[in-house]
Amino acid sequence: MTDEHIDPSEQATRLWSATLAVLQHSPSLTPRAKGWLEGVTPEAVYGPTIVLCVVSSSTQQALQNELNEPLLAALRMASGQDMFPAFKIVPATMPMREPTTPTNSYEQQSDHSQPQHLQSSQFIAEETAVNVVSKPQLQASQPEFASPRAQNTASSNALPQPVQPMPEMAEERAYPVEQNKALLDPLTHLNKNATFDTFVPGDSNRFARTVALAVAEGSGRDFNPLCIYGGSGLGKTHLLNAIGNYALVKDDSVKVRYVTSEEFTNEFIEALQTPNQAQGQIADFNKRYREVDVLLIDDIQFLGGKEATLEQFFHTFNALYQANKRIVIASDVAPKNLKGFEARLISRFESGLTVDVKPPDLETRIAILRMMATMSRSNIPNDVLDLIAERFTENIRELEGALTRVTAVASLSNQPVSRALAEQTLQDFFTSDVEIKPTDIIGQVAKYFHLTFDDLVGRARTKNVALARQVAMYLTREMTSMSLVDIGEVFGGRDHTTVMHAYTRISDEMQEKQEIYNYVMELTVRLKQRPSD
Ligand code: ADP
Ligand code: MG
Repeated sequence: MTDEHIDPSEQATRLWSATLAVLQHSPSLTPRAKGWLEGVTPEAVYGPTIVLCVVSSSTQQALQNELNEPLLAALRMASGQDMFPAFKIVPATMPMREPTTPTNSYEQQSDHSQPQHLQSSQFIAEETAVNVVSKPQLQASQPEFASPRAQNTASSNALPQPVQPMPEMAEERAYPVEQNKALLDPLTHLNKNATFDTFVPGDSNRFARTVALAVAEGSGRDFNPLCIYGGSGLGKTHLLNAIGNYALVKDDSVKVRYVTSEEFTNEFIEALQTPNQAQGQIADFNKRYREVDVLLIDDIQFLGGKEATLEQFFHTFNALYQANKRIVIASDVAPKNLKGFEARLISRFESGLTVDVKPPDLETRIAILRMMATMSRSNIPNDVLDLIAERFTENIRELEGALTRVTAVASLSNQPVSRALAEQTLQDFFTSDVEIKPTDIIGQVAKYFHLTFDDLVGRARTKNVALARQVAMYLTREMTSMSLVDIGEVFGGRDHTTVMHAYTRISDEMQEKQEIYNYVMELTVRLKQRPSD
């Protein structure tokens, strides 16, 4: 994190914007309640307290009475720790933003029944015009480290360290799309950060890495096409990007294009749908793809069954192949197991070289974590890396997620990263004592999106039903130990590839779209608290 010196008011703005994003999507809030939120201006963050300005005590009371629980939950979600709002009454005629020079002209509050955790803040202590939302049941089981109240009350009069908003929520998630896009080259669609330098080799991926490097260098012409397959989160996309980035380092005149099969499909459909000029658009589409020197196509399995797109891809593939252009394909299964692909295409894929990536062994997982820690300039003790590597064995994305959580929680609670903190964090975020049933998940998700259980397991494909269904499938995969096939069954007898598709799509969209991330986080919290509400 580089925002150590961000001032309290900027932190408050960020945290509040992330909190609002969570709250605005909460279906349990009435429009009236949402209206009150509009009258709130964030002022500053001090330790676990966010100072919120409201225009009158009645607004404050309305917020406290009607929004107490969702507000605390949203703050917690946005910051990654327990945060408490302290309300300051600033009549509408006064400027709302005068953070560091409190005066006595703020309306005094009569209820000072819970001032204890505010005493640590001089600013708040002088203010007196503050009031605290009470801590609901929901928060009761949170670990001590996530509740810096005790530390702060015990400490001296010094102002507590400002809280750093949780990186992925407040920093990136507040502006997720732009931030993410910034890493992607607009022309090649390559992620510049995914290179061979940042790809840690191990027994599970060494061969794939070696041939990928050969293709990138241009020496691996016999490996055409190169098919890389393996489970989710094992580095396929990283390798595709590394190939593209390296090919450009070797020769910046080569035309590289990274595309997911979904983007390929969408571009193709778009070209077809443009009225009255379908021919011209298709010609453009063909030209765009057939003039590339290195085509990197990701998650090819999603083309399965899409006959028109597959036909188009077949021609693109042949054109590139005959022109001796490099083609690299990533898939979650070996080419021979691809569903909904014609034999002629599968045999084209198999005519090159097929390599797999497997889950990394313990040593590689530790090495990957060490590299990630170094990249983010975090100082993580070895025993913490060991703990995470032991806990997450099947998926490097999850490994990365766990490390991010641990460092974020440490940073938010101003503690060094320690094994105890890591244990507590991982236990809290990744396990649940409550057994969660798929029907609970479907029920909660349906309720959240104002739909019915039957909508989610039914056939309707309207946009909101499809999204809710995918979120529910994602959560079922994450929160139960059910197989893809079984999940497909629960969701009205759908194929396991549909479940996989939903899972990958939601995982990806969580990285790119704040609202999707919020849905998943909020639903996860709800399900862990009250699975079958
Ligand atoms: P896949 O495409 O197989 O689902 P990704 O390539 O998206 O997986 O990898 C998931 C995450 O793990 C990415 O952030 C990626 O950079 C990282 N990752 C995967 N393999 C490695 C590796 N060998 N070394 C370092 N990071 C890796
Ligand atoms: Mg991928």
